[in-house]
Amino acid sequence: RIILGIESSCDETGVGLVRLRDDGGVELLADEVASSVEQHARFGGVVPEVASRAHLEAMTPTVRRAFETANLELSDVDAVAVTAGPGLAGALLVGVAAAKAYAVALDVPLYGVNHLAGHIAVDTVQHGGLPSPCLALLVSGGHTQLLRVDGIANAITEIGSTVDDAAGEAYDKVARVLDLPYPGGPPIDKAARNGNPEAIAFPRGMTGPRDAPFDFSFSGLKTAVARWVEAAQRRGESIPVDDVAASFQEAVADVLTAKAVRAALDSGVSTLVISGGVAANSRLSTLAQERCAAAGIELRIPRPRLCTDNGAMIAALGAHLLAADVAPSELDFSAQPALPVGTVSV
Ligand code: ATP
Ligand code: MG
Ligand code: FE
Repeated sequence: RIILGIESSCDETGVGLVRLRDDGGVELLADEVASSVEQHARFGGVVPEVASRAHLEAMTPTVRRAFETANLELSDVDAVAVTAGPGLAGALLVGVAAAKAYAVALDVPLYGVNHLAGHIAVDTVQHGGLPSPCLALLVSGGHTQLLRVDGIANAITEIGSTVDDAAGEAYDKVARVLDLPYPGGPPIDKAARNGNPEAIAFPRGMTGPRDAPFDFSFSGLKTAVARWVEAAQRRGESIPVDDVAASFQEAVADVLTAKAVRAALDSGVSTLVISGGVAANSRLSTLAQERCAAAGIELRIPRPRLCTDNGAMIAALGAHLLAADVAPSELDFSAQPALPVGTVSV
């Protein structure tokens, strides 16, 4: 069966096509993404109105490209999945409206799905079915959460999350302080390769004995970096961008991996999936590999292109819903900007 997936929660218009095989495996057939990121770059963050308009313009051409890549016709589609939330209301609405139109025109079931569950589900197109239970560390532009996954289609529970900024948000804000472009993840990752991660001892948030063991905080780290840079500027020194980037990145990767490994060991789960845009980070994956190997935990991280927003992740989640016989959504559902992670489909 063929599933069309549509993603428009933020600034990427993503269209994916997957095949659900009889053995339950999910095969990637197309993954087309059109991004409006350059239009937001000069504002240092996504401008909702601009994103919505860009989705509207990109939707049809991106759908067409996906079908061309997969060498399929619209009539081959057996189900449609679309991001219902969380995300920007006006941006989500474009994808939801398009998906409803395709589902009605093709007379196939429609699944309104959770974007965050999609970030986890996409790993199955690369590494095969998820063992159950497994632990997921979701690290993206808007979220940083530790999740227990007892079934990707219907059983995801939060065991910890950030109390302030998301990890990706911290990357984007620190990039601004360092005069690096938006989004900040890729340029900081690059600069950090030439820096010394031990040059500056930045704080590790929420790691005190009285802190919640599986919650995160990145706002103090972001402020510490800004203060450090301001102080250096006041002294008239030039900023060692590579060292600051490496030391900041080390603090983020250290906390994320330490808490994820501890959560896996605590809950007796032997597989850890790391996904979301920040999972594309090179230091995070290296450190996670080291620490998971030492703790006897199997680590799965999708390739970078699958970690950031795309339509394949939504198509993959749709395939798992179909495979689990979850009831499709009623056609009157709307965008749900604050959809909680435990609600996998609406
Ligand atoms: P959410 O999924 O929470 O709704 P989002 O969809 O905007 O948020 P993603 O597209 O999953 O987020 O991830 C974008 C974030 O990932 C940005 O903050 C970006 O800086 C960060 N990012 C991308 N590549 C890297 C990298 N190599 N290292 C660190 N961070 C990265
Ligand atoms: Mg984005
Ligand atoms: Fe995302």
